[in-house]
Order: sequence, then structure tokens, then C-alpha cells
Amino acid sequence: VSVQNPFERGEKSAHNNRIHPPPYTPPKDEVEKLRGWGFEDTAFSVNSRGHIQLSGTRYTVSGQEMPYLLPWMADVTNSPVGPHNVHAPLADISVESARDTSAFRAAVREFLSDDQLSDDAGLRARHGHGHTLRDVWRVTYDNPPRVPDLIVFPSEEEQVEKLVQAAHAEGVCLIPYGGGTNVTEALECPGEESRPIVSVDMQRMNKILWIDPENMTAHIEAGAVGRNIQRQLKQYGFTLGHEPDSVEFSTLGGWVATNASGMKKNRYGNIEDLVLDLRVVTAQGVLERYGVMPRESTGVDPRRCFFGSEGNLGIITSVIVKVFPAPEVEHYGSVLFPRFSNGVKFLHDLAKSRIVPASVRLVDNTQFQFGQSLKAAPTPLQAQKSKIEKFIVLKLKGFDPKQMVAATVVFEGSAREVAAQEEVLYDLAKKHGGMKAGEENGKKGYQLTFGIAYIRDFVLRHYIVAESFETSAPWANVEEVVHRARLRAEREHAERKLPGKLFFSARVTQVYDPGVCIYFYMGFFHKGVDDPVRVYAEIEGAVRSEILDAGGSLSHHHGVGKIRERFLPRIMSEPGLRIVRQIKQATDPENVFGARNHGVGREPGHGEH
Ligand SMILES: Cc1cc2nc3c(=O)[nH]c(=O)nc-3n(C[C@H](O)[C@H](O)[C@H](O)COP(=O)(O)OP(=O)(O)OC[C@H]3O[C@@H](n4cnc5c(N)ncnc54)[C@H](O)[C@@H]3O)c2cc1C
Repeated sequence: VSVQNPFERGEKSAHNNRIHPPPYTPPKDEVEKLRGWGFEDTAFSVNSRGHIQLSGTRYTVSGQEMPYLLPWMADVTNSPVGPHNVHAPLADISVESARDTSAFRAAVREFLSDDQLSDDAGLRARHGHGHTLRDVWRVTYDNPPRVPDLIVFPSEEEQVEKLVQAAHAEGVCLIPYGGGTNVTEALECPGEESRPIVSVDMQRMNKILWIDPENMTAHIEAGAVGRNIQRQLKQYGFTLGHEPDSVEFSTLGGWVATNASGMKKNRYGNIEDLVLDLRVVTAQGVLERYGVMPRESTGVDPRRCFFGSEGNLGIITSVIVKVFPAPEVEHYGSVLFPRFSNGVKFLHDLAKSRIVPASVRLVDNTQFQFGQSLKAAPTPLQAQKSKIEKFIVLKLKGFDPKQMVAATVVFEGSAREVAAQEEVLYDLAKKHGGMKAGEENGKKGYQLTFGIAYIRDFVLRHYIVAESFETSAPWANVEEVVHRARLRAEREHAERKLPGKLFFSARVTQVYDPGVCIYFYMGFFHKGVDDPVRVYAEIEGAVRSEILDAGGSLSHHHGVGKIRERFLPRIMSEPGLRIVRQIKQATDPENVFGARNHGVGREPGHGEH
């Protein structure tokens, strides 16, 4: 029985000043790829002059010729990466025929219209994967194994409730789908599932239901995509402040279900700090609370179970989030440090100062060089300027080009706040041997984030398997985690006698009082290697094990999905793991939500690939 929230009925307090934005229609040209990352019109390729270029006009690097990038890639991987070494994708992929969903279809046709159901093969393939290397490989060079048999597109919570009832009655398994950007194989359909699998695509539940300017909250449907939430809130002078690097394509429901983190979390918080309330359709009915409070102490809070639930426990239909006034000032900055360890010490002091800007990231020397390799050929004036800059950095300051690293910064807030943040940050940077490298470089660094996300699809077509993975670590272990992860990766690569040189790079992306989040990028040239995706997974698994040994976490924000479930016993006692399994068993005994992520619903030992 659904009890209507008295706050929603407007009985408990005056909500007359709430804003009810009209439905949002995204621009027509924002068509997403079915195979690969991002928008249809954007991809890296090698142009007729043999230089890498990003098509389209969306990003700062779009259209720019990058003459140094291909030679740099060949150099850093010590392999023949180039226009003549192309690993062409399959022209088409085929998926197995859909299982019989006729009884389920008949049941849901009572409340869904024709256009809310699809068994299109391309869509089915897209709904069966996220963006791990294995996920992408399988729709580029392979035919995916099991994919959903049917996609449904509910447009309101009541339809989701009825879908869950129909799934229960007709013996169908449901997997919620947000933006399909996860990097944990969370959307991979369990091969052992004997029931038909239905993907519940939340994209039509994308409305901002209201914005409450007085209480600084907003009620948003779970299928709303990050970029659209940003645009709409901005129209009313607000921001959510949640900016994962996938913000263009990931959804609010996906953020909660994966326990996501955004680059500006220092100012606004991670997803768990931003969410005040959520509504979830479970196998038991709708989980809802009657009131939105700044904080409560009301015993065990069942809503907490849905952070990181990865589709196992129910479908999040809407979320009440905090919103913030759009910042008065946004400044960028950048600092060069002679070595990674100087940068880490600087970040540590910055955390201790507790005057931390919205975002600060530290890239290692390899990523610093990568950034340089993305540049366009300079004009004569730029070349002259760059010569002088190099002279100052390398000769006067004595930085070693093979050791130096960079931090990029985003400052947000009132003009006074930003001025204070800048003063503290640059003082600390100086204390640790840092050198200001200008606002423009900082800005470019951040703007690159979204364009550069397309690079993995490009390198894959040139025989490089690559992906990123992350961890978090206390300050005391940061350098050891980075050092040991790198050594282990290099050792694993060498032991397998793989071609070329391993690409391995690290950056610190988030700072906390007790430590940081670290991202690793790893890749290698694989031409001639048998089953490179399996080899990659073995190396990544070994590195993960090393990270855990060195005092890092299993994941800071990507989650567990199916890619890391085998490590769970290393981070939690058996009673802890049992509680998680029992929550599933108690709330969804029939396993209607059958994604089987983070080991729930599977025998121990699964996920070892
Ligand atoms: C280039 C790139 C950059 C990234 N950057 C970041 C980053 O900066 N920070 C970060 O945290 N992550 C990042 N990610 C990972 C990913 O974007 C996040 O995990 C994101 O939160 C997933 O959201 P989604 O809407 O795409 O979910 P999906 O991939 O569709 O689903 C993820 C899981 O959540 C479940 N789910 C989705 N919607 C719902 C719902 N409404 N109810 C219940 N369960 C649901 C699915 O069943 C699945 O198990 C990045 C990924 C890529 C490829």
C-alpha cells in the first residue's frame, strides 16, 4: 500500500515557492553511440596527414590536429602504434535470439504502450554492457554472450511498480539500466540465469519534479542524465555539484546505485552526502519516507542499502538531493612540482589546512607528458613563448622533464572564498617546491577530461588494450600504493613477455582528511597476443591484489559489479558478507533483481575471469 507523502501533498509546510521546471528536451544532435563511448559525432581518428584528430565540435580539443600524440603513444608503449596498424572492429555484431517473453509482454501491455518495449538487437546489445575493457571489446571484436531479451522504458513510478509485479508473476528477471557507463561489468547478464532478462531503461524518468529554493533541495527522477540535470538547475541559478567524469551520460539513479563520486566533491560532497531521500521500487513494494529532513537519527535507515546496491535490490525511481547556489566565481589554476612526492605532500598539507578548493588533481609524469602530447603544433609566437617557459622550468628551476608532475585546480565560491583558497593553495605549493603554471593550463586540463574519454576506443583500434581503475588510500600509504601497483604491473607485463612496454600512469583525483583517491591508467600493445582481454584482466587482478596488500581499497567509487567480487572476502569478514547476502534474501527472495552483482546471488568464486 503506497501512502502518499504528506509533504508531497503540501500539507505539512508551505511549498508554494517550489519551482516545477517544464519537461526538458535535450538538443536533437545529442545522439549517443550504441557501440563505444559518447556522442555519435565524436571519435578520435588519424587524419590524411597522419595526425590524430577528434571529430565534431563539442569539446575544446575537437577539430584540433595533434601531431605529437601518435609518436608519443608509439614511444611510451615502445610499439608500432600507427595508421598502418589498425585492428578493425566487426562491421556488425550479432546477439543470440531473445528468449520467449510473450507472457511478460502481454502482462505489461496493460500499462505500457508499444513504444515502451523494444527487442531491437542493437539496443539489446547496448543494454548488456557498461564500459570496462571486456565490455567494450565484446561489442567491438566479438559477439556479446548473453544480453537482455527485452528492454522496457517506464515513464513513471507506478509503471515500475507494475513491472516488478509482472516480473514476479511471469518469472522474469529485471536489471535496471541508467546511462550504461559503469566500469564494473554490472550490466553483464549472468550466464547462468535461466529466466528471460528484461532491462529496465530509466531514460524516460528524467524530470526535475521540483526545486525548492528555500530549503535548497530538488526532487529529480532517477533516470535524469547528469548533463541535463546540470543545464536545468543552472537555468534556475542552482548546481548539484556532482560531476563525475561521466556526467554527460550517467544518471542520478546510477550514481546512487554505484555510490559515485564527482570531481568537485570537496565543495559539494559525494553522492551519499548529496542525497537526502530516495524512493525505490523493491520486490516488497515502494520504499518511501514521509518527510525530508536535513539529518535524522531514526534507527537503521533502509535507504542506506541502496548506495552501492548495483541493481541487486530494487529500482531507484526518484531522489531528493541538496542543491547549491551556482558559484559566483569559478577560477582554474595549475602548479608544477619537481616530483610526484612533492605533489602528494602538498596535497596532504592542503587537506590539513581544510581550505580545499572544489577540485584538485595531481597527475604523474607520464600523464603530464600525455597532456603535452595533445597539443596542437604551435604558431611561431607560441613556440617562442614555450621555449622561454621551458627555459624557466628546466634551466632556472632545475625541474627534470622525466620527473616533473602537475596539479590542476578548480576554485569555486564567492570571490572572497576563492581568493582565500587561492592564497592558501599557492602558499602551500611554494612550500613544496611548486611553481605556478597558470590558469589557462588548469582550465585546459579540466576541459580535456570529457574529450579524452573517447581515447580508449581509439587506442583499441590500434591494438592497445587499456583502461582505468581506482582505489583510495590513507595518506600514510599513498606513495607506497602507487609505487607497488606500478612495479607489480610492470613485473606481470614482463613475466608474460608481452610486446612493447607497459603504459602505466597514476593520478590523485580526490583528497580527504584521512587520504586520497588514486586513479591508475594501464595499457599495452597486444598484436600477436592470444586473448589480450583475459591477459589484461589477469594483470589488473594482480595489481588489485597488490593495491590491497599495500593498504589501498577495493574501490573508491567505481564499485564491485562482477569485476571485483572475488576480492570481497579480503575487505570484509564473513559475517559482514553474510549480512549483505541476507538483506538480498530477505528483500528479494525470488531474485527478481537478478543482476547478481558484488557476489550477491552467486556462489563464492564467481567472477574469476
Ligand atoms: C569515461 C568514464 C568516466 C567515469 N568517471 C566516473 C567518475 O568520475 N566518478 C564515478 O563515480 N564514476 C565514474 N565512472 C563510472 C560510472 O560513470 C558510474 O559508475 C556511474 O555512476 C554509473 O551510472 P549509470 O547511470 O551509467 O549507471 P549504469 O551503468 O546504467 O548502471 C550501473 C549499475 O547501477 C544500476 N542502476 C542504474 N540505474 C539504477 C536505478 N535507477 N535503480 C537501481 N539501480 C540502478 C545498474 O543495474 C547497474 O548495476 C566513469 C565511467 C566512464 C566510462
